[in-house]
Amino acid sequence: MSRVAIHTLGCKLNYSESSTIVRQLESNGFTKVDFTEESDIYIINTCSVTDNADKKCRTTVKAVLKQNPEAYVVVIGCYAQLKPKEISEIPGVDMVLGAAEKFNMIEHLHSLQKEEKAIVFNKNIKETQEFVPAFSYGDRTRSFLKVQDGCDYFCSFCTIPLARGKSRNASVAETVAKAKEVAATNIKEVVITGVNIGDFGADQDYAETLYDLLLELDKVEGIERYRISSIEPNLLTNEIIDFVSASDKFVPHFHIPLQSGDDEILLKMRRKYLSELYADRIARIKKRMPNSCIGVDVIVGFPGETEEHFLNTYNFLNELDISYLHVFPYSERNNTTAKKMEGKVLKADKMERAKRLRILSEKKKRYFYETQLGKSMQVLWEEERQGDNMQGFSENYVRFEAPYDSTKVNTIEILNFDQINESGLAKASLKEHLQ
Ligand code: SF4
Repeated sequence: MSRVAIHTLGCKLNYSESSTIVRQLESNGFTKVDFTEESDIYIINTCSVTDNADKKCRTTVKAVLKQNPEAYVVVIGCYAQLKPKEISEIPGVDMVLGAAEKFNMIEHLHSLQKEEKAIVFNKNIKETQEFVPAFSYGDRTRSFLKVQDGCDYFCSFCTIPLARGKSRNASVAETVAKAKEVAATNIKEVVITGVNIGDFGADQDYAETLYDLLLELDKVEGIERYRISSIEPNLLTNEIIDFVSASDKFVPHFHIPLQSGDDEILLKMRRKYLSELYADRIARIKKRMPNSCIGVDVIVGFPGETEEHFLNTYNFLNELDISYLHVFPYSERNNTTAKKMEGKVLKADKMERAKRLRILSEKKKRYFYETQLGKSMQVLWEEERQGDNMQGFSENYVRFEAPYDSTKVNTIEILNFDQINESGLAKASLKEHLQ
């Protein structure tokens, strides 16, 4: 029983954890194989945010058992923490590991046996205090470095605190040591990842903050650039913004969840800011870094969201100097306060609002790209092939496209942003090849 394959659903954090689990297994004699190949063990790292998590899990289990009917199937991740019983009843699942147990995979795999019912190792998330640093390597060009886990916020629509527990992290020194491991590989770009990274240090007796961590990461040699994955607006301090604007390594790209531009809805969502603070953060970033890219998460159709509330969000976003939106139609989750709220929005209205915001997102992106035309950018080419083409991102997240050339993968080129092509992506002429 030595071949293992892993499939990851959901966020960057899951990718960093899957990758770390695979490295643990490889150093214990297991051989990683592709998830579409025959394997002895299949691990499914689930997500609770994805719609139809249960259905996706069932379909995946069925698919892998076709590849090898004798294989063992282990389910981990947020959905495994939230719904261990349901998952254990899926035919073909042999083991379910909760949040605290997934990093003890080796130990658990040794006790794996084909039983009538799946074995479940899952403890109450409130008792989960462990923090296991992780980083992804080998699957994608960029590495996701996990610096924080869990969340203390309890937004009324979100189950992540129930799946991942309290906010926690390792010390700055331990996190930097992990970053040095990444630096020893051929990785050029690191994405700083967590559930609520702005809360870094909140659980510690000694005073360390995300700002302290960023200062130290900036000094690590061998990493060309860092990207902050997503940060709550109320935790994005002036000192962090000013630091990024002065740093050669931290790129001018922010992803800041807004969720609603209407204050009444923000309060119902139990977000920790109002629209004024959000607008102030955007203004500060743009003042310090006029060419920065800013992405925004928005939820439409939250309970009680009327057309007027939605228009407030639309108009707020329309006025803001932002570059793109990630739009999510509200999706009800068990055990959340929002589920009990009145004023459910019809699916058709949610979809229509989402569509309007996605059109706005396209316009914002196009406008942002137009402001960047003619500029010189450093583009890191990604491994993934897109038909005959490859894609890469500039520091400020402009997506470039060029004919596929394997020698360019994971190299940085200085390019001139000449044109926006028919797919809405950047086309360039080469200025200089960096490495
Ligand atoms: S900040 Fe809110 S939305 Fe984000 S993980 Fe925490 S509870 Fe969920």
